[in-house]
Amino acid sequence: MSIKHNLSKITSLLPKNVTLVAVSKTKPVSDLMEAYNAGQRIFGENKIQEMVEKHEQLPKDIEWHMIGHVQRNKVKYMAEFVNLIHGVDSLKLLKEINKQAKKYDRVISCLLQIKIADEDSKFGMSSQEAKELIVSEEFSELKNVTITGVMGMATFTDNTNQIEQEFKRLKVTFELLKTIDNSLETISMGMSGDYSLAIDCGSTMIRVGSSIFGSRNYSN
Ligand SMILES: *Cc1c(COP(=O)(O)O)cnc(C)c1O
Repeated sequence: MSIKHNLSKITSLLPKNVTLVAVSKTKPVSDLMEAYNAGQRIFGENKIQEMVEKHEQLPKDIEWHMIGHVQRNKVKYMAEFVNLIHGVDSLKLLKEINKQAKKYDRVISCLLQIKIADEDSKFGMSSQEAKELIVSEEFSELKNVTITGVMGMATFTDNTNQIEQEFKRLKVTFELLKTIDNSLETISMGMSGDYSLAIDCGSTMIRVGSSIFGSRNYSN
């Protein structure tokens, strides 16, 4: 199946309020170009260096989303162009993003990553921590970042019930935070295996990789 075909299969079934992030990590720029030529403009990467290299080579009307865990010392490499950072999980990281965004006179949009999975391996904040962050004075002083929503990753499991519970947890957290900041609009949840379920649970942004580009090969 071609990338173009995969994309149109997914987008044709997508509700209007749901944004598709094409997750292109590990894939060559030729694959991204194929998606671009089929109309896709939002791409997600999980490594800053890889995103920087692809950004340099590809058309400038692409929106780049950082979906992976962000190391503070690498924020400076993407501050000039990144459109949305999904995995923000501390005030410390927000401060660094703010500092680097300021150098380019930009305001960078961020999502707070909420820990919804039971696994220890997943990064993220509790909903209480997220709430404390957005009401804090320190956060209100950061003029070059804005929080536009939340992001979460469900447990890697075949148990649909469990995934559904975790997605619902993120939706509840979103609604809670929205009572504090009514401008929040994004719930980033759902990947190739579970995006339909995520949409049923309230997702407004899905991050889909292998269903568009095929399975990834990490060996090279
Ligand atoms: C790789 C990745 C995805 C996409 O995963 P697929 O199963 O290939 O769709 C989504 N979100 C994050 C954070 C990822 O790292």
